[in-house]
Amino acid sequence: MKRVLLATTNRDKLREIRSILSDTPVALLTLADLPAVDEPEETGATFAENARLKAMHYADAAARAIDDPSLLIVAEDSGLVVDALDGEPGVRSARFLRPDASYAERFAEIYRRLASSSRPWTARFICALAAVRGGNVVFETMGTIEGEISAEPRGVHGFGYDPIFLYPPYGRTLADVSDEEKLRVAHRGHAFRNLRQWLATTNADN
Ligand code: IMP
Repeated sequence: MKRVLLATTNRDKLREIRSILSDTPVALLTLADLPAVDEPEETGATFAENARLKAMHYADAAARAIDDPSLLIVAEDSGLVVDALDGEPGVRSARFLRPDASYAERFAEIYRRLASSSRPWTARFICALAAVRGGNVVFETMGTIEGEISAEPRGVHGFGYDPIFLYPPYGRTLADVSDEEKLRVAHRGHAFRNLRQWLATTNADN
């Protein structure tokens, strides 16, 4: 069975990715299967650059710890892009305002900055995925979900910016729908279903 190392330190993402790949015939490994390794600095200007940078970084560590040339190392970089904020928080989503800011503080700052623009406050979540094998990037893809910033935070599911992301076809925020409803339409679901499709059509050596 193909082995895939999910190279993320984010528990919320890991939970979503496990669920998306649950019926895929691959053995999933995580960073817990490697000796402790420092996180890379996310210096890329785009989600795609950061996804590649993370995948290559953890692939280096995996190559030292796991003797399996066919092991696929998969990383993703994601975030919220708000048009009226010139794309912010964007690649800095996890660090927006301050690295240790609460999401309540981040939402307040986003609403403060949006107050002078008229609605709808169009926005999207983007997920860039990169897969590395044998030291080379062998697959890349992106997933997106289009929506808008809601009038106020709503909902208790999901994580991060989900309470302020209104998905118009549902008429609710992504924190106000079930995990299954979110995964069906959201950025990470799209990107990892593309990976699943690629895994099903490629053999282990390419
Ligand atoms: P990364 O770990 O550098 O990719 O940062 C991702 C950050 O983007 C997360 O910490 C969240 O703040 C935000 N984000 C990404 N995906 C989602 C999502 O599905 N819902 C809510 N926030 C998200």
